[in-house]
Parts: sequence; C-alpha cells; structure tokens
Amino acid sequence: MKTICIMCPVGCSLNVYEKNGEVIVEGNSCPRGEAYGKTEFVNPSRVVTTTKRSGAFSYSLKTDKPVPKTMIFKVMEKIKKTPLKELDVGDVFIKNILKTGANIIVTGKLTI
Ligand code: SF4
Repeated sequence: MKTICIMCPVGCSLNVYEKNGEVIVEGNSCPRGEAYGKTEFVNPSRVVTTTKRSGAFSYSLKTDKPVPKTMIFKVMEKIKKTPLKELDVGDVFIKNILKTGANIIVTGKLTI
C-alpha cells in the first residue's frame, strides 16, 4: 500500500506492506511515520470534524481522538440525530460515540 504520512507538513511517501506477519513501513523519516503507516495499514482512522446548528447557535464539533474510517458515516449520522442542548466550547456533546472510545467535543460556538 502506498500512502502519504500526514503527521507533519513534510508528507513523506510511505510504502506499507506485510511480510512474514509483520507490517513493514518504508519511506518514513521518523518514528511517527512508521506508527502512522502501521495504523493506516491495520486500522485506518481519522478525527471527525463537523458543524451542527441548534437554537441560535452554530457549533463546531470534533472527535477527541481518531475513529475508524469505516465508522465515519455512522458517527456523522449519530451527531446529526442527537439533539444538542446549549453547550460551551470544551463541553462533551456525545460521550464514547458508538462505543468508539471517542467523545464529540465542542470546539467552537457562533451566534447565527
Ligand atoms: S514520517 Fe515523520 S517526517 Fe515524514 S511526514 Fe511523517 S511525521 Fe513528518
């Protein structure tokens, strides 16, 4: 598998493959790239960011840790369907969303 490390602006090109049951990462310039490549190969995940309107406010939301890529649409649907009472920046909107271990937190709040 070929991918680009997104852990810093350098963007090293990674070649990731399995050999004798071990995940091998080539092309990384530092250990963060090796960890990223292995995660991408075994269980690719992303931080989810979105916005949601509620009452007189528009909230910016994000997961506080990456969730598996296969769960992103389900996470977005859960956020969409869950009523949002008034919250402040830093508050947890949904705890342990869909048992991923990630919380949905408020990162911004604007009056509409
Ligand atoms: S491997 Fe290291 S240097 Fe290269 S993009 Fe990833 S974090 Fe940056």
